[in-house]
Amino acid sequence: MGGRAIPDRGALYEDVAGIVSRSHDLGETLDNVVDLVAKRLDADVCSVYLTEPDLAHLGLAATMGLDPDAVGRVHLGFGEGLVGNIAAEGRAMAFEDAQADPRYRYFPETGEEEFCSLMAAPLRVASLGAMEGFSIGVLVVQTRQPRSFSDSDVELLSTCAHLLAPVVMNAQLLSVVSGSDERRSEMFEQLGRAGMLSPPPETERAERNVRVEGTPTSRGIAIGGVYFLGDAIQFDRIEYEPDPDPEVERAAIRRAIERALTELHGLRDDVGARFGPDFAAIFNTHIQILEDKGFAGRIEALTAEHGDALEAVREVLDTYAEMFQAIEDPYFRERGVDVHDVGQRVVARLLGVRNDAQPMAEGAVVVASHLLPAHFATLETDKVAAIVSEHGGPTSHGAIFARALEIPAVTGVPGLLEAARAGETAIVDGETGSVFFSPDDDLLAEYQKAQHRALVAVEHLDALAGRPAETLDGHRVRLTANVGLLSDLRLVERHGAEGVGLFRTELLALVHRGFPSEEDQEQLYEQVAHTMSPRPVTVRTLDLGGDKAIPELDFEQEENPQLGWRSIRLSLDELGSFRSQLRAILRASAERNVRLMVPMVSSVEELRRVRELVDETKEELGARGTDFDPDLPVGVMIEVPSAAVLAGVLARECDFFSIGTNDLTQYTLAVDRGNERVAHLYDSLHPAVLALIDRTVGAAQRADIPVSLCGEMASNPLAVPLLVGMGLSELSGVASAVPVVKEIVRSLDRGLLADDVRRALACGTAREVHEIGAARLRAAGLLDHPDIGDWLRRSVGD
Ligand code: PEP
Ligand code: MG
Repeated sequence: MGGRAIPDRGALYEDVAGIVSRSHDLGETLDNVVDLVAKRLDADVCSVYLTEPDLAHLGLAATMGLDPDAVGRVHLGFGEGLVGNIAAEGRAMAFEDAQADPRYRYFPETGEEEFCSLMAAPLRVASLGAMEGFSIGVLVVQTRQPRSFSDSDVELLSTCAHLLAPVVMNAQLLSVVSGSDERRSEMFEQLGRAGMLSPPPETERAERNVRVEGTPTSRGIAIGGVYFLGDAIQFDRIEYEPDPDPEVERAAIRRAIERALTELHGLRDDVGARFGPDFAAIFNTHIQILEDKGFAGRIEALTAEHGDALEAVREVLDTYAEMFQAIEDPYFRERGVDVHDVGQRVVARLLGVRNDAQPMAEGAVVVASHLLPAHFATLETDKVAAIVSEHGGPTSHGAIFARALEIPAVTGVPGLLEAARAGETAIVDGETGSVFFSPDDDLLAEYQKAQHRALVAVEHLDALAGRPAETLDGHRVRLTANVGLLSDLRLVERHGAEGVGLFRTELLALVHRGFPSEEDQEQLYEQVAHTMSPRPVTVRTLDLGGDKAIPELDFEQEENPQLGWRSIRLSLDELGSFRSQLRAILRASAERNVRLMVPMVSSVEELRRVRELVDETKEELGARGTDFDPDLPVGVMIEVPSAAVLAGVLARECDFFSIGTNDLTQYTLAVDRGNERVAHLYDSLHPAVLALIDRTVGAAQRADIPVSLCGEMASNPLAVPLLVGMGLSELSGVASAVPVVKEIVRSLDRGLLADDVRRALACGTAREVHEIGAARLRAAGLLDHPDIGDWLRRSVGD
């Protein structure tokens, strides 16, 4: 190995990402990647094997270093040879002496007998089982001289494979759907999907209170006029005159495709600036579809054949729609929506109209077939009162957008497009998932009242956002917000939070459905730190696993996922990804307002190991001259009972605590936080949970380190007096609750709270603790508060 240059991981990553983002031809992309990886890793060979349509074999698809004639000629079964084994097992491996391994198999076509060492990483994508993934290929590196590949080499190769996987997957899906004419004619027989082609419904109707139900997706109540969106381009209603000259027609569709592409590039930048890089990435898929020769080429070919560009787009879209619809896996099916969206955009360009050509009135209830991310970029979101969609679920990208923008939304409403009439009044209840069309006066009045109460309260309180959260006797409590996306920062400002008390980094991974790249993470954390500066930002390392699985990781079906491979346990096993996250956080710490927080710590060893890794990362960055905060505080989340019990020891070895009561309650009371059958037993005000919080606060105070609380409990009005009384210096909750919590803090006298805490800790039941909290709110006069009284009375059950 002596003398071999250490690869510059950042540069390799960036270059592979660059090739991938410019990809429009799979073969060319693979050739460029193998060339680059071979050079940068100083290897004699780099090859890519791709899974064949039978899903049981791999074929050599590109190589730099093996006999180029072997491309397309070498086929091996899953599980056959080292490469086949890596595909089957779905994990990267390295072999110093590949031929010594009993699984090695020699393929004479390749001329690979001269190569000694081998390292390979699978290209993984999500699969039918939500937890597993499958390999759609393998990226392989070989060297003539024996080489012992380090963990970080393996990591680096895995990252490259990870970058490459979506391109391969999209290309393969697209090639299947733009495949044989026979397959297509079968498809054409099944054309004419209802919703897409149906005429817009009439406005007039006699019925009142027409009710449809869906999944509550984004909270809040809205009332407004129905506005149909997106699928407004009804192909069979368009009067389209093709040009008699097929060449002119062909030029027209080519121009439309180019314009749609330009528009998509613009959207990607625009959405990136507004919502963050995580969402911008969504448009890469759209761009890739449009740049795919199968898609665009097919449209052009059909235009030449029929002499009618609109008909050509329609045919291609219908074929694709049919194919994608038949796919069982929701992840892949979602790609069908993307294709549809892209097709609509091309037609809009062809016709010279925008998808949302009709003017939208202020306060509109947007009714759509799907809730697409693109809608948020093209709609004037300030005019949107609510969004309702016939299809999709609450975890789609569109749903995430709606929540981030605080737009009430209901998704997956069967019969919605049929039920709604353009222009009629609709009520959307984002809390329950109910949607009413043409409400009568009584129903309207009921919802108007509820909506008004909530709005007035929020407005009043936001107007007072600048006031400090200080008790009557002058004790300051820092009120911060829990955040997961860049767009949430807007709410942090609006509701007057004093920083970010918990930045949940796994949301980026969930949006991506895979480990986010180091570069994406870095951009996101830096932007959050920069926007908040000088206010503090506590970045929590990935808290994946449990109920938050992503396809990138091989989550096995666990008997008890909440007690299994999750959070810091997983990060410490996936060191490559963890190190890149640490690098990204450290780089963001250059703003000097970042703290690093470790979730789910259950032992002192875990904390020590993390500190070691942080120190190593600092050294690595220091050697490169990268700026970071040398005193970056490293804190522990206290959310496992063992950590609370050992708080005294942990406090001596970390810089701060944050109590995660969502999990602390689940683990202390042995009540699954996501199981509605035992939900009545889940209560963070249980005296056992309070005892652990109190113990943690005491340990922090003795060690003189700050202690905050970042579970949902921080926004629970009944809990606030007790938490302030126990001495928590920071409460971090949902941004919109900050004003309410502040009003409570400002009405409390700490002198009176000590006795409340003492009595609460002596209680036997959660109910008794509730009463103590309620009595304090009552005594402070808060139940008569003009803005929050209504809400608090409901919380205390008055
Ligand atoms: C907690 O457990 O209290 C917490 C804040 O973390 P999460 O809800 O993300 O598990
Ligand atoms: Mg937690």
